[in-house]
Amino acid sequence: MAVPQNKVSRARKLKRRAHHALSEVTRTRCQKCNHQRLPHTICENCGHYRGRALIQIDEF
Ligand SMILES: [Zn+2]
Repeated sequence: MAVPQNKVSRARKLKRRAHHALSEVTRTRCQKCNHQRLPHTICENCGHYRGRALIQIDEF
């Protein structure tokens, strides 16, 4: 069985992991319908991107 040459202490391990937090996902609002969407993507609610309708969203 492999044995680690230097055991990492709890304090050193936790200090290393202090930088591992995920950042919050950035969202913007659609100019057409004000729906929240990811930046640089087509709005999934109305299919518009930069004021142009690029895909058709069927409404029921
Ligand atoms: Zn939209």
